[in-house]
Amino acid sequence: MTSDTIAPETLSFEADVARLLHMMVHSVYSDRDVFLRELISNAADACEKLRYEAITRPELLADGKALCITVTADAERKRLTIEDNGIGMSREDLVEALGTIARSGTRAFMERIEAAKAGEGAELIGQFGVGFYSAFMVAEKVEVFSRAAGGEGSWRWSSDGKGAYEIGQALSDETPARGTRVVLHLMDDAENYAQSYTLEKLIKEQSGHVAVPVYLVEKPG
Ligand code: ADP
Ligand code: MG
Repeated sequence: MTSDTIAPETLSFEADVARLLHMMVHSVYSDRDVFLRELISNAADACEKLRYEAITRPELLADGKALCITVTADAERKRLTIEDNGIGMSREDLVEALGTIARSGTRAFMERIEAAKAGEGAELIGQFGVGFYSAFMVAEKVEVFSRAAGGEGSWRWSSDGKGAYEIGQALSDETPARGTRVVLHLMDDAENYAQSYTLEKLIKEQSGHVAVPVYLVEKPG
């Protein structure tokens, strides 16, 4: 290993996150589709945050590229990628945002889910919008590549949703020039989410109101 390479580290999820993930994956849910709405809304939020930051720091948008979200369907490899050129995340942001349950919405959700009867989980997921972790309803592995706007370095976060995640430096060619790429390695029974016609329908239904353009790309097989 060279001196400027930092080996990836394996960190545990906060106990509440591990419980939430377990519950999500094992609950009898009727509507897994919501994961796409959640990931696209995160990508749109990231673009909005950058737009806002750039009011005082216009250099952040100096590349002149329009803010957008790109959804890539790779049916052959059973992968779905959601990428944005928004605010991005530093290593600390990734650890905080994707490893802990600091967010109020998720905490409230956890309190409700503890009190809920078996089988009510799916409904609660819909009501609360549990966000990023819903990706594990359809993916056996999730990778997040991110580069913060105006920041240094690019990072790779990866997890199978079973208690721990790995975080380390990303190769520059796997990370967007700015922003975040979320790669879902789909479960066998969720392969339909790598079909562009399924995605097109869901994006229209769920994300029509999003203030940033959403492009759908089909990776040739
Ligand atoms: P919420 O969107 O309600 O905050 P989520 O679980 O959907 O909760 O996301 C958790 C956090 O992870 C977000 O608040 C944000 O800080 C971070 N995050 C998730 N996706 C992205 C993204 N594409 N770009 C930047 N930050 C993101
Ligand atoms: Mg969200």
